[in-house]
Amino acid sequence: MKFDYYNSKKLSNGKTYVLTDPAERRQYFEAKLGHKIDDVKSYLEHNTFIGYLLAKKQAGKGTYSKMIEEILGPERFAHISVGDVVRDFHEKLESGEDISDVINLVRKHYRGFISVEESMEALRNRTTDKVSVPAELMLTLLKLEIDKIGRKGLFIDGMPRTLDQISYSLYFRDLINYRDDPDFFLLINVSNDLIDLRMKNRVICPECHTSKSMILNPTTNVIYDQTDKQVKFICDNNTCSGYNKAVYIHKEGDELGIKAIEERLRSDEDLMQKALNLHGIQKILIESSIPASIANDYLEEYEIQPAYEFEVVGDPGNETINIKTGPLKFKDDDGADCYTMYAATYVVNIFDQLHKILIG
Ligand SMILES: [Zn+2]
Repeated sequence: MKFDYYNSKKLSNGKTYVLTDPAERRQYFEAKLGHKIDDVKSYLEHNTFIGYLLAKKQAGKGTYSKMIEEILGPERFAHISVGDVVRDFHEKLESGEDISDVINLVRKHYRGFISVEESMEALRNRTTDKVSVPAELMLTLLKLEIDKIGRKGLFIDGMPRTLDQISYSLYFRDLINYRDDPDFFLLINVSNDLIDLRMKNRVICPECHTSKSMILNPTTNVIYDQTDKQVKFICDNNTCSGYNKAVYIHKEGDELGIKAIEERLRSDEDLMQKALNLHGIQKILIESSIPASIANDYLEEYEIQPAYEFEVVGDPGNETINIKTGPLKFKDDDGADCYTMYAATYVVNIFDQLHKILIG
């Protein structure tokens, strides 16, 4: 699977934007998207939309959704993670608190072949998220969550999760009374090589669980550890109990890269392929790689995701670290040398296509 690469025009306004900085990112979005932002905002005064997010693991869906919210504002847009909604309900069930009001609501809206009680029992008994939640219960919880949020443009992440759930998403807008508004699939493709790089280089703070990448986003405090001759990140989150002390570590299993999630990747791809072939529902297609040979035709340098390299210099016992950066290089699934972009640049592409669907 591969979609068309990024196809928007360069700004060429002589400016550079630091896309990891929220204030500069806002200016960048305004420069790139112009009137399209206001178009969609005024559209959302009286209308809504539903986008179903389908992407491979590690695609960054959460990050992109947060940035769409930055552009539109939380009063007009919400991102719902079905996994979180189900987990919250599961935790409430286990907590022993009185949640009869929630259960009454579920009972009121629930329809299914097994009873509400059996459905909740199945949820209680799930050991991993491999044991799926009864779909009818999931749909009910999702509907209740949307009722709570109020009428907004929505991104739904985590439904459909399996091939036989695709038909739920086709009629879901009727269930929540959004039927006059557009719905669409947002499909994000990521090359296996890029997923592999992201996984193998992921590190987390053992105290505050902030996630970083050894090649993409170092902390401000990078050290050379004499004992095992490794470069390490020290936590720079000043609300962390390990501030300036805690050493970032790899998560077990990540060193295997995509080998550890091959089955999951295959099922993600099957699901995306199926969604791609559906008639009558629109699609936003996002490809996360651009061939290095044409990257400069479409992207400014500041839009290309850099990789960090740490060069250890100096005499033993007195080492210092030189930080070097250059574009992150990897292969797409056809084996071509590729670059990828900062999340904000993907978001411009998503918003552009969203505008086309809503406004035309
Ligand atoms: Zn920390």
